[in-house]
Amino acid sequence: MATSSNPFILADGKKPSCMEMLQSILDGEATPEQKEYFKKHMDHCMPCYKSYNVDMTLKELLKTKCCGGAAPEDLVAQIKAKINTTA
Ligand SMILES: [Zn+2]
Repeated sequence: MATSSNPFILADGKKPSCMEMLQSILDGEATPEQKEYFKKHMDHCMPCYKSYNVDMTLKELLKTKCCGGAAPEDLVAQIKAKINTTA
């Protein structure tokens, strides 16, 4: 068993894409090993680093602006659109 193997690799050997890894992290479904791996992955993967931080910033923003309630979907879309055009 290789210690350096990607903990995101599924039982069938399929290697997940950056988006899939990011999604598990953001959904809170990732295991501690996966979170650890992803943290290191972000150090050398700018798209992941960017997406992760955009999402975290969004979550923080919505938490403070919306009193912990459900985030309005169009607000999220608006912010994301803004980030994507300026990036
Ligand atoms: Zn990546």
